[in-house]
Amino acid sequence: MPENKTVPKHQSMDQFESLDNDLLVNGLSVQRVKQIAGQTPFYVYDRQVIRQNILLLRDNLPDAIKLHYAVKANPMPQLVSYIQSQVDGLDVASGKELSIAINSGMTANDISFAGPGKSENELSMAIAAGITINVESFNELKRIKSLTEKCDYPAKVALRVNPDFELKSSGMKMGGGAQQFGIDAELIPDAIKIIRDYEFDLQGLHIFTGSQNLNVDHIMSAHENIFKLADQISQQNGIAFKHLNIGGGLGIPYFPGEKEIDDEGIRQIGDALDMLIERYHQSFADTEIIMELGRYLVGNAGLYVCEVTDIKESRGKTFVIVNGGLHHHLAASGNFGQVIRKNYPVAVANKINQPVDKAVQIVGPLCTPLDILANQYELPKIEMGDLIAIYQSGAYGYTASPRDFLSHLQPVEVLV
Ligand SMILES: *Cc1c(COP(=O)(O)O)cnc(C)c1O
Repeated sequence: MPENKTVPKHQSMDQFESLDNDLLVNGLSVQRVKQIAGQTPFYVYDRQVIRQNILLLRDNLPDAIKLHYAVKANPMPQLVSYIQSQVDGLDVASGKELSIAINSGMTANDISFAGPGKSENELSMAIAAGITINVESFNELKRIKSLTEKCDYPAKVALRVNPDFELKSSGMKMGGGAQQFGIDAELIPDAIKIIRDYEFDLQGLHIFTGSQNLNVDHIMSAHENIFKLADQISQQNGIAFKHLNIGGGLGIPYFPGEKEIDDEGIRQIGDALDMLIERYHQSFADTEIIMELGRYLVGNAGLYVCEVTDIKESRGKTFVIVNGGLHHHLAASGNFGQVIRKNYPVAVANKINQPVDKAVQIVGPLCTPLDILANQYELPKIEMGDLIAIYQSGAYGYTASPRDFLSHLQPVEVLV
């Protein structure tokens, strides 16, 4: 291997700078963040990167588009509070997320609550708080009705529509065909009749088609279909909706070959939205158009950092064992919805500008061969105590991991 070969850098690693051999997060070396965290493993989230992500959207989307943050991507309360001041609303998916959203200071008017099978307690919380419930079924409408009969507050609802089209090339499809999400588009007129009968305050529609999409054309065509469907529903039922939530779905690159949706891509999406707003002006002149995004706001702002605790050779392969793994970062291990395991971008945070030594296996301490953080990954020469950083870990990292599995030390989270 040539002496000066540098570690192959992925586009998704450009958001963090370096100084000498140190990877920096919002100006602090990862070594220093380790001191602040008080331990490894930890997650660290960079405020500046989050801010840049939001500014990129603000600069390139029409002013008419309201930006909401989907809290489930990363519900760390301090991070939600930080984002709260820069977005127009928050979307939650459980009672606990609802509390975090309310406590962040976001006005109830700008919080919505989606998700199948909301509990009675969660529905009561939402009604009392005055947030919008994105209704997922006819049964849920009935349950909300019986809860409002016991209190004086009106229920604010929106209808989550399961459309008759899907978002092509999504990492996760959440609309089209048979779904546990939303009410099938053809049944929406029935749902609207019930809502009128119940005298609920109907806020609007929620049409979320899928997640983790990097294809700008497919996103634009989904938006076109969403406007068309919402316009039909509006016309057929004679309703001017207060808001139309068109979902989000903007993905971020995790794996080699994946290309980020850059400012140019966002501008294209924005221009197309401008045209749709113009085309459907009659139906939506006074309608707030909402995009709800999770990972696009926070995914690239987070690193998961763990420490090398053993190094061993086995039949021609080098195994670097770290004190974190699948239990802290299920997605990076390849076990969160991936069909074929691929490596997240990885670096040695305290040797960030050192040349490649060789390809290694980075594995965690769990007693399962699934506990892999990097497979045959070219990195500088690794020693005990080195800090391994996994990029693109700001969304669906800490929150989407089985942290009790094998009862190891829990990671901590730091927002810098
Ligand atoms: C999960 C989810 C999102 C966020 O998805 P990302 O891929 O993180 O942007 C938005 N809306 C709804 C309804 C969701 O369930």
